[in-house]
Amino acid sequence: MALIVQKYGGTSVGNIERIENVAEKVIGWRERGHQVVVVVSAMSGETDRLIGLAKGITARPSPREFDVLLSTGEQVTIALLCIALEKRGCPARSYTGGQVRILTDDAFNKARICDVEVDAMRGDLDAGRVVVVAGFQGVDEDGNITTLGRGGSDTTGVALAAALKADECQIYTDVDGVYTTDPRVVPEARRLDRITFEEMLEMASLGSKVLQIRAVEFAGKHNVPLRVLSTFVEGPGTLITYEEAFEVEQMEKVLISGIAFNRSEAKLTVLGVPDRPGVAFNILGPVSGANIEVDMIIQNISHDGTTDFTFTVHRNDFERTLEILKERAAELGAREVSGDTKIAKLSLVGIGMRSHAGVASKMFQALAKEGINIRMISTSEIKISVVVDEKYLELGVRALHEAFELDKVA
Ligand code: ADP
Ligand code: ASP
Ligand code: MG
Repeated sequence: MALIVQKYGGTSVGNIERIENVAEKVIGWRERGHQVVVVVSAMSGETDRLIGLAKGITARPSPREFDVLLSTGEQVTIALLCIALEKRGCPARSYTGGQVRILTDDAFNKARICDVEVDAMRGDLDAGRVVVVAGFQGVDEDGNITTLGRGGSDTTGVALAAALKADECQIYTDVDGVYTTDPRVVPEARRLDRITFEEMLEMASLGSKVLQIRAVEFAGKHNVPLRVLSTFVEGPGTLITYEEAFEVEQMEKVLISGIAFNRSEAKLTVLGVPDRPGVAFNILGPVSGANIEVDMIIQNISHDGTTDFTFTVHRNDFERTLEILKERAAELGAREVSGDTKIAKLSLVGIGMRSHAGVASKMFQALAKEGINIRMISTSEIKISVVVDEKYLELGVRALHEAFELDKVA
C-alpha cells in the first residue's frame, strides 16, 4: 500500500463531468489498495473570473480581501469532488487550507508555506477516507486566509506530500508530461520520461508554467518524488528526478533538455549615463527599493565616458519602473530613458551544457538564420537566455527546437 498525493489542475476539474471523471480515477487508485490525498484547483477560468470581479471595483483591491475572494474557487471544487466520491460510495472529507492548517507567512497573494498539520488527514486516511484539500491557499498565524500565487495548487500538492511523507506526488494536468517545450507552440515537442530537478527548476523559472517554481523548489528540497501526468490519457508521464546516475548518463548524451519562453517581461534602457562607480547602484537601487524585481541586466562598454544601461522587469512593473527612472534621469545625468514591453525571452535549458562548448553559437546561428535579432543575452551553468522582439517568439522557439533536434530521442 502506498500513500499518494494527487493534484488535479483547473482544466481537469473544469466542469461536473470532469469532476466525476476525477472521482472515478481516485476511486481506481483506492481500489488498488492505496491511500489517496487529493488537491484540487479551482475550475478553469474561475480564478481569472474572481480577479475580474475585484478589478471591476478597484485596480488595487486590498491584498487580504483579494485572498479571501480568490480562495473561494478551490472551496467549490473540494466540495463537488467529495460529493462525487460519496455518491459512488467512497468515504471522503474536504478541507480548506485553513482547516488542514496549512500555515503560511503573511505575504498575501504570494504566501509561502511554513508548516502543514497532518494529524487530521492521517486520521481520515486511517479510517479509510479519501482526503480532498483545496489547493493554492493557507492561513497565516493570525488565521487570515492567504493564497500562494498563480499555479499555487502545485505547491500545495508537494507540501502535503512532503509533510505526509507520501510515496509520490502526482500532478495531473491537460498534457501527459513535461515536454521539450510547450506543445501548444511546437506540435513536434516530445514528452520527456525524466528531467532533473535542476532543469525543471530552470524551465519553471524561465516561463514553463507546467509546474509552479515553488513546487519544484519544495520537492527538490524535501526529496518528494514528483510526476507530471495527464488526467485524460493513460501514460507514465514525466518523473522529476535527482538521481545522480541519470545526470551522468544524460550529460553524455543530451545537450539540451528543453526550451522555455516567457512573454511577461519588459525592457528598460537608460541612455548616456556618465560611466563612474555607482552607476548600476544609482539606477537599480530605487527600483529594488520599490520592491520591483530585476531580471536580466546589461551595461554597455562606455564611449566618451558615458554608458547605456538596460535591464528587464516583469511587465506588470513596467510603468512604475519607467516612472522611477524618469524621476531620476536628471539626477543620474542620463540623456534619455526608454522602454519596450513587446519583448520575449527564449531560453535553452540542459545540464549537458556544463560539459559542452558551442551551444550558444549554435543557438545564435539558428536565430540569425530566421532573421531574428537578439536584444539581450544571459547565461548560467545550465541555461542560455536571449531577449528578442515578441513577434518572433513562436518562430524562435520552433527554430531552436529544430536546430537542436529536440523532437528526436537522443
Ligand atoms: P493546470 O491547470 O493543470 O495546473 P497549467 O495550465 O498550469 O495546468 O499547465 C499545463 C500547461 O503548461 C500545458 O497545457 C502546456 O500548454 C503548458 N506548458 C508550458 N511548457 C510546457 C512544457 N515544457 N511541457 C508541458 N507543458 C507545458
Ligand atoms: N486556481 C489558482 C490559479 O488559477 C491556483 C492553481 O490553479 O494552481 O492560479
Ligand atoms: Mg498550473
